[in-house]
Amino acid sequence: MKNCEPSIGLVPTQVQTLPPTLFTNCSPNFFKWMKYLLVMPIEICTIGGYTQTGGNSVAIKVGEEVVILDMGLSMENYIRYTEDREDISAKSYKELLKAGAVPDYGFISDWKDKVLAIVPSHAHLDHCGAIPFAASLFPKVPIICTPYTIGVLKGTLEDDNIDIPNTFIALSANSTYKLSENITLEFVHVTHSIPQTVIVILHTPEGNVMYANDYKFDREPTLGKAPNFERLEELGKEGIKVLIMECLYAEEHRKMPSESVAKQMLKEVMLGTNSQGKAMIVTTFSSHIARLKSIIELGKKLNRKIVFLGRSLAKYIEAAEEIHIVEFKKEVQIISYRDRIERTLRKIMKEGKDKYLIVCTGHQGEPKAILSRMAREEHGFQFTEGDIIIFSCSVIPVQLNQDNREKLESNLHSKNVRIFKDVHVSGHAAREDHRELLELIKPQAVIPAHAGGEKAKELADLAVKMGYKKVFLMQDGKRVVVK
Ligand SMILES: [Zn+2]
Repeated sequence: MKNCEPSIGLVPTQVQTLPPTLFTNCSPNFFKWMKYLLVMPIEICTIGGYTQTGGNSVAIKVGEEVVILDMGLSMENYIRYTEDREDISAKSYKELLKAGAVPDYGFISDWKDKVLAIVPSHAHLDHCGAIPFAASLFPKVPIICTPYTIGVLKGTLEDDNIDIPNTFIALSANSTYKLSENITLEFVHVTHSIPQTVIVILHTPEGNVMYANDYKFDREPTLGKAPNFERLEELGKEGIKVLIMECLYAEEHRKMPSESVAKQMLKEVMLGTNSQGKAMIVTTFSSHIARLKSIIELGKKLNRKIVFLGRSLAKYIEAAEEIHIVEFKKEVQIISYRDRIERTLRKIMKEGKDKYLIVCTGHQGEPKAILSRMAREEHGFQFTEGDIIIFSCSVIPVQLNQDNREKLESNLHSKNVRIFKDVHVSGHAAREDHRELLELIKPQAVIPAHAGGEKAKELADLAVKMGYKKVFLMQDGKRVVVK
C-alpha cells in the first residue's frame, strides 16, 4: 500500500476509508480505476437563474455531499401568480413550480438524500424567497445564513402563516462553519442593496467553490463596512476552483457607483427642490435599509415628520432593528396596516402635507401597494399640483413592472404632480467590478449566474478576454463536473 499511494496522488484520508485488502496485487489499470472512484469531483447542478433572470439556486456536490446555495423566487412569475391571491400560505410548491415561480428541485432528485444545508447568500426574494415553499423538500436540512437574512425569513414565514420543518443556523459574515468532515462553509462580507450580504465559499478537499451572487464593490457604503477585500485577496491566493458570479450588469462598461452617490442624488432632489406647501413622497425598495437611512437623514433636515407606510417596509426594518443595524423607530413612525395607514393619511391632509415626509411602498407601480392606492385616492389622500414624488429606484425591466409603472405614472401625471425618477444607483456589480473580482480571485473556472442569454454571454466574453479557458455557460437543470 505504501508504494501504491504516491503513484495516484491520493489524499491519505480518502485512502484510509477503503478496506486494506483492495490494495494488494495492484496493477496500473487498477489504480486508474481507483483514482476515478476515490477522487471526489465537484459537480455543479445549476437549478435556477441560468436560463431566465432570478429564481436563483445552485447545488454543489462534493463526493457524496450536496450543498444548495440560494433558493429564490422568479419574481415576475411569482407576482403574476400571487397578484389576485390574498392567502399565500395556501400555495403549494407544486403549484408555484407549475407557474414557474420557484426553482425545480426535480433536477436534483437523485441528490435529495445527500443535501447537507440550504445556504441563502442574502435576504432578497430572488435568492431566498422560495424557502417557505421549497425548504420542506429537504426537511432535515438546516438553513444557514446571516442573522439579518434569518430575521427577514422568519418575518416572512410569520406574515404568511407558513411553517417549515427546517432549523435555522446563524452564521455571521467573515466566519466559517464546518458542515462535514470534507466541507467547510465560509461567509465573506460584501456590499449590496440589503444588509449582511455575503460571498459564500465552500472549502473542500477537491478545491474551493466561490459564490458571488449578488455583490457590489462599494468602497464608501452609507451603512456598514466596505467589502472584505483583504479576505478575498487571501482566498484568491489559496485558490478558487470555480467562481459562480452574477452577470446582471455585465454589459455595462463601467464601475457601479457607490451608494453614497445615490445619497447625493437624493440630497439634490429632496433639499434642492422648493417643496414649500407641497407633499413630498419617496418610494424605494423596502429591503434597502441603507437607502432608507439616507432618506431619514434628509427628511430630518427638511424638518418634516417622517412616516413609513406599508407592511413590507415594516418587515425589513423590524429585522434590521432586532439585530441593531439601525434604530429607525426612534425617528420615524412606521405604519403597517391599512386602517391605520388611512387614518394617518387623513391626518396628514388635515394638518398640512408639507409638515410630513411620506415614505411608502409601490415603486414598481404594484397595483396593491400604497402609492398606487394613494394615486387612486383610495386612502383619503389627495394629490394637488406641484406635489413631489421621488422614485428612488429603477424600474425592473420586465413587462409586468413596466406596465404597472406606466399606469401609475400616467395617473400621477394627470394630477400635475412633479415626478423625479431614477434617483437611484444599483446594488449590483457592473463589468469593471467583475473584472476586479476576477483579477482578485483568479479562479480556475467561471460560471455566470443570475441570468442566461446575452447577460451571461457578456460576462463569459469578459472572462475569455481576460484569458480564462474554462467558462461554463449553463442552463437551468444542467450539470458540470469541474476538474
Ligand atoms: Zn440581491
